[in-house]
Amino acid sequence: MKRTELGLADSGPGAVLRVAVDAPQHSGLKGPLDYASEQALASGSLVRVPLGKRELLGVVWPGAAEPAEGLALKPVAAVFDALPPLGADWCRLLDFAAGYYQRSVGELASAVLPPQLRELSPAQLAARLRKLDRKPAKAVALPEPVRPELAPEQAAAVARIGAQIADGAAKPLLLFGVTGSGKTEVYLRAAEAALAAGRQVLVLVPEINLTPQLEARFTERFAALLPEPLAIVSLHSALTPAQRLQNWLAAHLGRARLVLGTRLAVFASLPKLGLIVVDEEHDPSYKQQDGARYSARDLAVWRAHDLRVPVVLGSATPSLESWQHAESGRYERLTLAARIGGGALPKVRLFDMKALPPSAGVTTALTAPLLAALKERLARGEQSLVFLNRRGYAPVLHCGECQWKSDCPHCSAWRVFHKRDRTLRCHHCGFTERVPHACPNCGNHDIAPIGRGTERLEEQLAEALPGARVLRIDADSTRRKGELEAQLQAVHDGEVDILVGTQMVTKGHDFRRIRFVAAVNPDGALFSSDFRAPERLFALLMQAGGRAGRDAAGESASEMWVQTWHRDHPLYQALARHDYVRFAGDQLAERRSASLPPFSHLALLRAEARTADAAKAFLDAAAALLPDAQVLVYPPVPHAVARVADVERMQMLVEAGQRVRLQAFLREWVPALIALKREHKAVLRWAVDVDPLAI
Ligand code: ADP
Ligand code: ZN
Ligand code: ZN
Repeated sequence: MKRTELGLADSGPGAVLRVAVDAPQHSGLKGPLDYASEQALASGSLVRVPLGKRELLGVVWPGAAEPAEGLALKPVAAVFDALPPLGADWCRLLDFAAGYYQRSVGELASAVLPPQLRELSPAQLAARLRKLDRKPAKAVALPEPVRPELAPEQAAAVARIGAQIADGAAKPLLLFGVTGSGKTEVYLRAAEAALAAGRQVLVLVPEINLTPQLEARFTERFAALLPEPLAIVSLHSALTPAQRLQNWLAAHLGRARLVLGTRLAVFASLPKLGLIVVDEEHDPSYKQQDGARYSARDLAVWRAHDLRVPVVLGSATPSLESWQHAESGRYERLTLAARIGGGALPKVRLFDMKALPPSAGVTTALTAPLLAALKERLARGEQSLVFLNRRGYAPVLHCGECQWKSDCPHCSAWRVFHKRDRTLRCHHCGFTERVPHACPNCGNHDIAPIGRGTERLEEQLAEALPGARVLRIDADSTRRKGELEAQLQAVHDGEVDILVGTQMVTKGHDFRRIRFVAAVNPDGALFSSDFRAPERLFALLMQAGGRAGRDAAGESASEMWVQTWHRDHPLYQALARHDYVRFAGDQLAERRSASLPPFSHLALLRAEARTADAAKAFLDAAAALLPDAQVLVYPPVPHAVARVADVERMQMLVEAGQRVRLQAFLREWVPALIALKREHKAVLRWAVDVDPLAI
């Protein structure tokens, strides 16, 4: 194709196309750009177009181009004509998400399409498509799957979803049920109904680590119904680029009938989408935390509404946003009140740290009564899980002579002591050094760790319980590919007596043998400045407790042990009764009186600079840009970890009573911020986070 610049006047019979191309929001180019094309192309077609000195992937966007008079348009460089265009619904989703989260549509499109599309030429993509068609179908006849008979509440839930599939949906469905209450079985039946109606099904999970487990369960159920290759695919960022493209193409062509994935899968092209499931809908992982900061859960709800297809949000501890929607009637609640097979929820024991005699080692997380309880389980050959949400050996090293502490020279944070490799590591910027033999400040040889992380807990457990097989699972122990799978398998195979881990182990894993779960130091979140911290702690503890006693056949009662200095705290009291409803009611009352979400709507403007003053000056100026009586702009404050890698981080909260009000404000504010930034050269980065999760 010719690369000459085509003037409009002499472009002859050619067309002018709007193309969404990856121009970052901050460049000020918000919408699609205009290009000349020799032929008219359907919207949703993938193309390559020149931008500046580069050539980028673009999507022909719906809507008529309105090129400025007399402006010379550059021509489209190449067309991916072997690929059917992306659907109008996909473009609507991208338009909505880009507008709502204040990004350019091209930037978002480029972020959510498979990365390989950016690298391949049309000919190469056509070859991939041909290869996909050549995958042979399995000839073996598979046995019909065994479906359990549904419990009455499950049957009612499945019937409601089925009715929505038949009628073209209505309200989002909140499937509220504790771990083991049979939610996944409801997803399977609902999926079956949608598949039988010839539709595609999208199932979202919060963690990549959970996809193999779920994939196995769906494959087992649907192998006979969907024998064709690529009929069931997963989509997440741990796939190789080639796999990810292959699976994405299968979904786009309608060959993949069932797509399981993490948050990015909400943007999959699914021409026959008929049902969306969001499992563990409360999980913060559904929120993308950098770039285009979108909530996959919220976009799933939007997409389902747009397509008039059902969306099922499942959780034992729904987000307070979703719960409030159910309370107000915007969502329809489907409740599974009991565990399948009558398996009891673990008995919660709130262990009062104040009741320990002062000498009884309150400095240790392994209290004598906890050790005794672990020993008892060990003697019975039962597995236990000890949960501590802090990795490393100790959060800080300390010199008793001069009070030196192992702070990070680049961050406002301590460097964590990792004993195994004898390093001090900053968990924020990654700065790592060998542990010094003596205090770097005064030379004292007697420097000691303060506090504990999972590594130290593992060591202390092994010392206190000789012969016990202790395994630690956290981000450090699972760095290498395949390690997590191997470790989980060891737990499943009963090769582990005591599992020590961070929240990584509390999520979703179907541990059958664990009968005792201990949270050794959960109090921190009670007093966090983040108003969502209690909600997260409650969900985490319920989920951790849900790991115990999933196997109803066990003889001994399962137990959850919570060590706390605040036994009477309403959060723990509700936890002890497994009373999410009570907890949610209390929290929502507090949120209402403080005008916090879901009773108000927030956006966060973040700014980073070498000095806090420079970041603050930008935020102060931003606050003065657009006075609006219905929008409250709070004063700038430092981020919870104010300095990371020698960069100061400040943030400023924007609040409105109505979502539409906030959106209207942001639509004007963000372009003004782009202009403002040009005057604030010292600001390195800034970003707007709509509906922020971490404050
Ligand atoms: P959840 O997703 O809520 O944790 P699951 O759907 O995984 O619950 O169900 C828990 C266990 O009970 C699983 O082993 C599942 O196979 C089994 N199960 C679910 N529904 C039924 C049923 N109606 N009859 C018998 N077993 C069931
Ligand atoms: Zn010292
Ligand atoms: Zn650091």
